[in-house]
Amino acid sequence: MNETSLPRDAVFMKQAEAESRRATCPRAHVGFLLERHGKLLIRSSNQSPEGLPTCKEAGHLMVDGHCARVTHSERGGFVKLALKRLSPQGATAYTTWFPCVDCMNLIILGKIKRLVFASMADPNSNYRREFHIAKRFALRAGVKLIHFPKEKLLRA
Ligand SMILES: [Zn+2]
Ligand SMILES: [Zn+2]
Repeated sequence: MNETSLPRDAVFMKQAEAESRRATCPRAHVGFLLERHGKLLIRSSNQSPEGLPTCKEAGHLMVDGHCARVTHSERGGFVKLALKRLSPQGATAYTTWFPCVDCMNLIILGKIKRLVFASMADPNSNYRREFHIAKRFALRAGVKLIHFPKEKLLRA
């Protein structure tokens, strides 16, 4: 993960960070966005689908260590993109939290070749194995991983 960051990474990561504040599950606030040639395609956060109760209203709904009440920001983002009839191919993905395996698979399927992320799971957490696999899949598929820590944003 020694890929170099670009000047626009700070701009888009700042927007992903802002988007993460719109998340509806207090367990995790994740912001995700897709950008291509400097143009923002979509932004998304982990939220309950419109019309369904939020975690605040109905409590978390834990399934296999994830809250099933919300759609992961990446998945929600891909649906938004489809509704706009746009392709993710060749876009750069920005996320405030390193993707889970399922979302990483979507990123790979979408032919996204560059992923900028702010944080990763604590190496001692239950998600350690999940993140390790996601990282391995990304590297195997040729997705460039750029770590852009929050602290770097404060300086940008
Ligand atoms: Zn929740
Ligand atoms: Zn996910």
